[in-house]
Order: sequence, then C-alpha cells, then structure tokens
Amino acid sequence: MSRGAKRPAATRRLLRWFDRHRRALPWRRNRDPYRVWVAEVLLQQTRVAQAAPYFERFVDRFPTVEELARADREEVLKLWEGAGYYGRARRLHEAARAVVAQYGGRLPQTPEALSRLPGIGPYTAAAVATLAFDAPVVALEANGLRVAARLTLERGDLRRPVVRRRLERALAAYLPAERAGAFNEGIMELGETVCRPVAPDCPRCPLRTECRAFRELANPASVPTAQARPRRPHVVAAVVVVERNGRWLVRRRPPTGLLGGLWEFPGGKPRRGESLTAAARRELREEAGLTARELTRVGVVRHAYSHFSVELHVFQGTAAGRTRTERPDALLRWMTPPEFDRLPRPKATIKVLGLLTP
Ligand code: SF4
Repeated sequence: MSRGAKRPAATRRLLRWFDRHRRALPWRRNRDPYRVWVAEVLLQQTRVAQAAPYFERFVDRFPTVEELARADREEVLKLWEGAGYYGRARRLHEAARAVVAQYGGRLPQTPEALSRLPGIGPYTAAAVATLAFDAPVVALEANGLRVAARLTLERGDLRRPVVRRRLERALAAYLPAERAGAFNEGIMELGETVCRPVAPDCPRCPLRTECRAFRELANPASVPTAQARPRRPHVVAAVVVVERNGRWLVRRRPPTGLLGGLWEFPGGKPRRGESLTAAARRELREEAGLTARELTRVGVVRHAYSHFSVELHVFQGTAAGRTRTERPDALLRWMTPPEFDRLPRPKATIKVLGLLTP
C-alpha cells in the first residue's frame, strides 16, 4: 500500500509508455469490473492470445454478473472447454452467485472484500480492485513478478510467498496515488511485451535507469533464476467406448477436483499386472455393471495437461447387461454423439473422439 510514488519520475515514464504502447485487448474496451474479473481469471493460466477468444465468447454469452450467476454450471464449463484449469470456471460461477446474493450484483471494491468471495485469491482480489477501481495496491502476476525481480535483482524463487511479498513492497515505492490501476497494468504489459522471459528489450524499456538487472548484469534475462520444475506425473489408462442403439455410454466426472464436472468415456488405470484390455473390461463392469463384447483396440491418445500427462489406450465395442446409471460420485448416461458434443469435455476426450469409427 502506498500514498504516492516515492519514485515519481520512473512512475511517470512507465505511465507515459503504457499510454502510448498499450495493446487494444478485448478486456480493455472498458473498465467494467465484471469484465476485468473474468479476464483476470482467464489470464491466470492462459496466454493473452489464447485467452482473447475465450474472453469474447464468455462475456458475449454472459455479459453481466447476474447472467453468469443464473447460468447452468454445464454451460459455463462448455464455454471454458479447451481453456483448461476448469476449477477457475467453477469458482467464477460460484463467486458470481455470491456477488448477486451478497452485493446485489455489484462487485465489492476492496481486495479484502473481494478475497472473501469463493475462489478469489490474493492476486485476483488485488488485480480486480486496482484495475477496476484504482485501489492503491500492487498486483503482480507472472509478468509483473519478472519485471519486479529484474528491477530489484531478486534471486529468490518467485513461487515463494515471502519473495512475492518482498517484490510487492519494492513495487509499492513506485505506486502512484492516482492511476494505480494503469500503473499495475503497465507493469504487466511491460513484462509481456518488453521485459520478456528470454530476450528483454532493455533499450526500449522506460524503467532501464532504475533496473538493477540492466545496470549490473551482462544478461538481465538471467533473473529470475530458473527453478527446477517438479516432474509431471504420467498416467496410463484404458478408455472404453461402448455403443448401444446409436448411443455411447459416457460419464460425468465428480464435480470438484481434476477436470471436475467434465464428461468423458468410462475407463481407468490398470491394476498391477493387469493388461489394458482387462482393465477396460473391469472398469466397465465396476462402473456400469456391463460386460464388454467385441472390444477392439482403436488407438492411443496422448495429451499433456499442465500438471500431468496422459496416455489413453482406447477400446471400442459393445456391451451386454443392464446399465447401472448412477453412482454417488459420477453420472453415467447413454448419449447420441450430437448430445455428447453439447457437453463440456476434457481435451483428451476430444482427441479420443477423433479415433472413433462412426
Ligand atoms: S531494463 Fe530490461 S531487464 Fe530491466 S525491467 Fe526493463 S526490460 Fe526488464
């Protein structure tokens, strides 16, 4: 928090640079707090170019917080299909309902009140408060953290809260009493377009006079220090596609957790020593009470999600028996391909569809 920039010349340069160079992005057409919020949620794990079409579709279908609050969960997830991190969409929907119930559809203006809404973490609360309401707080996403680390020559791991707080305090010295939102957005924009991860364009940077990485290092891009990433788990599983009267058996995943609420074909991981074909048969029996018939292996789908990768061995065939249609944690249904198309599905399932014979 700051009552005025202690480095007014640098702040003025940054704001002037931002006024001149800001890109015309869809969420910048106006400062409607709801649009700012949707954009911030989308941009948390998604690059600008990829997020833009999702944003347009989302606010076109749900132009106000009330309309989002009234929506069906499945439709919200369908609009998010392919953007990944589906928990973001579920929590956005839940928080929209809370905004309508608790605040009559108007987003609260302070980071403290925003962070009491379901699923709004400290960064999103600060970002919405400052970008939509000019709250005098620092909001640092990945790009802003990188700029701040280079400005101050921070060598710590940017994922650590103590390092983040140190950088926020350092940037607070630049925060202007007015236009705090433009300042924060300017820092983000600088990180995205000039202070890039690998090749920062320092000669074009409005903060190069202050930047310690530029002044003291031969290669400013060596900050932040690269941190070892944890190994991504790899999951091998069988997927079983059974057909009856032109319909596929599909299931909805439990509402929370990984890919929560999305629809997919039944299947699962083989047990120790079990073949993939046997796993496909067992999963079908356990999940749906069906006995697989004429099961043919149709191919393998590989997909890398952000936290794990999957290798799905796909089997197609028919099945005998009465379907157990519901379980407490999942919902099984027989669906025509067009009905299945209307539901939200994980990317790997969309790849599985590409292997199937109609
Ligand atoms: S001078 Fe270079 S390293 Fe420093 S903030 Fe600007 S672009 Fe980044």
